[in-house]
Amino acid sequence: MQRKPWGTMVGVRPSKQVHKLLDAGLAYDQAYAAMHTEYRLSREKFDLLWRVCQLERPVLEESSRPDLFSVYVGIPFCPTRCLYCSFPSHSLAELGRLRSHFVESLLTEIAETGKLAAGFGLTPYTVYLGGGTPTSLAPAELDAVLSALREAFPGRWREFTVEAGRPDTITEAHLATIRRFGVDRISINPQSMHDQTLALIGRRHGSEDIRKAVAMARRAGIPVLNMDLILGLPEENTDMVAVSVRQTMALAPENITVHIFSRKRASRYNADKAAYKLPEADEVAAMQQIAFELLAARYRPYYLYRQRDILGGLENTGFTLPGYECIYNIVMIEERHHILGLGGGATSKIINPGYTLLNIATPKDVRMYLERLPELLAKRSAALHAALS
Ligand code: SF4
Repeated sequence: MQRKPWGTMVGVRPSKQVHKLLDAGLAYDQAYAAMHTEYRLSREKFDLLWRVCQLERPVLEESSRPDLFSVYVGIPFCPTRCLYCSFPSHSLAELGRLRSHFVESLLTEIAETGKLAAGFGLTPYTVYLGGGTPTSLAPAELDAVLSALREAFPGRWREFTVEAGRPDTITEAHLATIRRFGVDRISINPQSMHDQTLALIGRRHGSEDIRKAVAMARRAGIPVLNMDLILGLPEENTDMVAVSVRQTMALAPENITVHIFSRKRASRYNADKAAYKLPEADEVAAMQQIAFELLAARYRPYYLYRQRDILGGLENTGFTLPGYECIYNIVMIEERHHILGLGGGATSKIINPGYTLLNIATPKDVRMYLERLPELLAKRSAALHAALS
């Protein structure tokens, strides 16, 4: 019989539902009864959700202040395209020549959005540079973007993250730039610590490059490091997952995010499914169980979300050492806080009273982004007027 640990939950963010129950003052047993009745949610997943929501609660209380907002900047370039990726990223070989035009437009967008936010008396809370791979930019371009952000959104930010996901993009010069602008959190993402898997999924680096990049980041003085893993990658088994988790933990990152392979429609995987052997649902659940058991020694879960077509109907879960949770990840998932999404394939979330929200997405395609920027700026301004005036 197929396991359905999340019951009938489809198209909703599980932790958002639990936060609503907490808002209404429900205790653990009452909240479990409500979630089980509504969604046939398993006790195991409810317990996970409950722990996550308890940890998120103080962050939600602080970040839900209506004058606070966060900034997300999407840099839609990567050195190569990973097998499972449906993110709005372009390989540098394909679209690298557009990179300087993109950076120019992004600098305009940052400056205009800074004026817009200041006009509404909004205060920047967290800033997150994602993508894609922001370290696909040349160090001088990254410097220009970080400098523009500091200028456009003055003040003391609660958190500043730059994803440096691909170890093959990280140099001493990138890290020096990142530190100069006070970035306090970066991601270096192994996905797997097995070289044959890394080759199979289209990464241009091995596990030794991951270790070198982590050492370089620590030498540069990066205070908080996140590392992403994916369970259920083609040709991997439970033992291989345990090795990847142990080797990642040995690098002592403050955050480890455990993703489950998702068969995304726009991915290379989807175009050539027959060529790859994925584990069955039960094996993926066993992989997750082993990963969670190993992580429980030092880390605790602090945010989670599900995706359509995720193997075994499971979830992606962020783990943290106590006190190092990524604030941006929490506010982005829980949707009680304005997020202004700039750059390629970014989503702005404008929160109306009662936590209804308006999403505005920037185009995934760099050429479209360049063409449509004036229209996007006007749309974002109108949405903020409607929500805040
Ligand atoms: S590094 Fe991330 S964004 Fe870039 S191709 Fe791989 S999965 Fe996609």
